[in-house]
Amino acid sequence: MSHLFYQTRDRRPLLDRAEGIYMWDVNGKRYIDGSSGAMVSNIGHSNPHVLAAMRAQMDKSTFGYRLHFENAPAEDLAAKVAELSPEGHDKVFFVSGGSESVESAVKLARQYAFVSGQDSRWKIISRSPSYHGATLGALALTSYEPLNAPFKPMVTAMPKIPAPRCYLDRDNLSDEERGLRYADMLRDRIIEEGPDSVLAFIMEPVGGASTGALVAPESYYGRIREICDKFGILLIYDEVMTGVGRTGKFLACEHWNINPDIIATAKGFGAGYVPLGAMTAKQHIVDKILDAGGFQHGYTYAGNPIACAAGLAVIEEIFRHNMMENTTKVGGELLAGLGRLMDKYPFIGDVRGKGLLTAFELVSDRETMTPLDRNLNAFSQLVNIAYERGLIIYSRRSRGGVEGDHFLVCPPMITTSEQIADILAILDDSLDELATILNLPR
Ligand code: PMP
Repeated sequence: MSHLFYQTRDRRPLLDRAEGIYMWDVNGKRYIDGSSGAMVSNIGHSNPHVLAAMRAQMDKSTFGYRLHFENAPAEDLAAKVAELSPEGHDKVFFVSGGSESVESAVKLARQYAFVSGQDSRWKIISRSPSYHGATLGALALTSYEPLNAPFKPMVTAMPKIPAPRCYLDRDNLSDEERGLRYADMLRDRIIEEGPDSVLAFIMEPVGGASTGALVAPESYYGRIREICDKFGILLIYDEVMTGVGRTGKFLACEHWNINPDIIATAKGFGAGYVPLGAMTAKQHIVDKILDAGGFQHGYTYAGNPIACAAGLAVIEEIFRHNMMENTTKVGGELLAGLGRLMDKYPFIGDVRGKGLLTAFELVSDRETMTPLDRNLNAFSQLVNIAYERGLIIYSRRSRGGVEGDHFLVCPPMITTSEQIADILAILDDSLDELATILNLPR
């Protein structure tokens, strides 16, 4: 009997070892890590350079509390992150994961309002659906009913606007018009809430688990920035999943030339080697808080030297091996291949993504985008079929958790074209098997 528990009673085999995009269980079965865990192991498993950097740091020191010592890996990594972040993001705050990163972004925004005489502003508008983390603060920004329901009332319920799921719309608008229409919902909501009460807007630039690789029309991103500027509202990008190369740029905000005020990253930073994340903010925000006596926030493990040495080595590897270029190339091949599967299987309703953050969504009717009957449990069935066939993918019931199933296919950034073809072949066989089991139309 195991004494461990996670969300459910479901258990998986014991992991034995992992290398590159492959993982082996203790029975010797091989799996393709087609979702990089939970979109984490961005540079693949057992990267020798990262392991060597961690070992070298371990031989020197493993921990120095930040109130007692600075450490060189944290300094070096902060300098690197500032160099790779949008202009003005010169201050970097380390954390140990995505929820901590989002909490830190929110607390920075709150304290900024407090020290700059704007304490009437406290509301943070987010999108629905969205996922911003598991801690109670981040959960109040999250909009995904199964995760929220047991914890209502939220610590503080925050206003939401619809995520731009244009693929569900049946209107005659152009992409550009749709993007603007969704962005303008932020303006309307700010006015409704009272502009003086709204502090920030937080969004995933490409949706993660919540919306399954949702990319908004081009026009959305710029208009959101304009609206935030107009009302003096801070724009927070949750790049926990998109950051550190996953979409083909170091940060996804670069695709649209957007400079958010605060950025939260994690997952790909530690890349499965260490728990690590970073929150960056524009210098004037941080200065205002430091000038007023200091940021009233911090975690014990912040800036851990082993974690930072690993994070630095991860970034070095990404650049040394042109992994972002590869991500754009093979991500395009993956999306095209998913498109071919959509041509073949009428129960695939949509295929979407950017770089190696890609997804497809299953429906019972593509014209109306009617989801599959939730009792079919397609979201777990397909994952299990693929798992049996040696491919790991990541699924969620989408659309607010009451309907719809989407699947994230997000292998590591080192995946080759041949390996993408292998993934697509296993997916094809798995979808065929799912169609047979659930009697889906072909
Ligand atoms: N924000 C986003 C966009 C995420 O995808 C996640 C994790 N899925 C988080 C925050 C929370 O990260 P963590 O699980 O590391 O706390």
